Amino acid sequence: MDRRHFIKSTSITLLAAMAKTGQGNNNKLSKQMKYRRLGRTNMKISEISLGGSPVPSEAIFRRAIEMGVNYVDTSSSYTNGNSERTIGKILKDYPNKFYVATKFHAGRKGSDTKEALEKEFEGSLKRLNVDCVDILMVHGARTPDILANDDVLNLLEKFKKQGKIRFTGVSCHHNPVDVLTAAVKSGNYDMISVAYSAFSGSLVQKDGVYKNYLQKSGIEQVINLAKKHDVGVIAMKTMAGGNRQDLAKYRKKGISLPQAKLKWVLENKYVASALSELLTFDILEENLAVCGSPLYPEERMALIDHVTSFSSRYCRMCGLCLKACPRKIAVPDILRYALYYTDHGKTTLAKKKYKTLPVESSYSNCNHCGRCLKTCPNRLPIIRMLQSAHQLLA
Ligand code: SF4
Ligand code: SF4
Repeated sequence: MDRRHFIKSTSITLLAAMAKTGQGNNNKLSKQMKYRRLGRTNMKISEISLGGSPVPSEAIFRRAIEMGVNYVDTSSSYTNGNSERTIGKILKDYPNKFYVATKFHAGRKGSDTKEALEKEFEGSLKRLNVDCVDILMVHGARTPDILANDDVLNLLEKFKKQGKIRFTGVSCHHNPVDVLTAAVKSGNYDMISVAYSAFSGSLVQKDGVYKNYLQKSGIEQVINLAKKHDVGVIAMKTMAGGNRQDLAKYRKKGISLPQAKLKWVLENKYVASALSELLTFDILEENLAVCGSPLYPEERMALIDHVTSFSSRYCRMCGLCLKACPRKIAVPDILRYALYYTDHGKTTLAKKKYKTLPVESSYSNCNHCGRCLKTCPNRLPIIRMLQSAHQLLA
């Protein structure tokens, strides 16, 4: 069965008609698309927004805008700057109708001086062909210290005063509880981007599935804290990988797993938007059809079934193994890069990222002590996964 069969045909017919007549652009917010407030930024952003690594073709991008998508997440590093270049090219046709968030790499090799960071951001403005971006985020913040670094804070303040950014944010790929809690409490960041998917909600152990993992992992508390401080929340990694999954069995039951995953994310009313890679017209239509639709019981069951099957293969990026590892091997990073390779087809990017890891935090320095295995709440066979990742990416 084709993906289209899962899409709610009525809403798509309407959306397609709007796209043809151009009524769906954000002159007015699309009636079919739902919008949510992104915390104190007060930006009303589409429930489904555009992940920019990579951005889709121009035709799909324009269709997404016409269908009501009004937020794109990019970074100076995505597709060697081509993500920002494409966005810049398209957005000149939609002035003031689309929000752009980009990122810089504070605390990373090559971006560890104030001058380098400033240059990196100026490059983003140039590629995006704008004088000001809506949000500048610290990309993949690794520790709370980076967020409190004087150079980073002074630069963000300077960019704001110069009118080059409107708001600040943080994305985080591991140890999210410590990093994002610090970001929210500091008062220096207006939004956070957190890895949040159906896999964040369940923990699978030998004796069954525990559905309270969201609380146990601390992610629920981070989001509640953000709500208390009026800091906006955007969900990333919403598909938790995706291509390796056996979709055939869900299709037989008439369920779209990608739709169920997005609905699960959007059930949390404080999550302003779910980022997704809208790389084909089918995916775009399938994803956008979830807006305003509840997660039906059969979809919830399918998600539990799916999470149960794949739980011990998907790293939730909690960072607990990092704290336990005597050699500080970058386990969540390595597993994420492997996922880029196997599930997202980003083979070159995955290899490139793996190469940027310092030797001391790469698999070559792992002594197989097994401490991480005892720590991982998801019982991932970490050493085996690191070995496979190394074979793929080295
Ligand atoms: S097995 Fe390797 S990754 Fe795991 S704790 Fe030991 S050194 Fe770290
Ligand atoms: S491997 Fe396990 S402990 Fe380490 S970050 Fe991933 S889920 Fe957490």
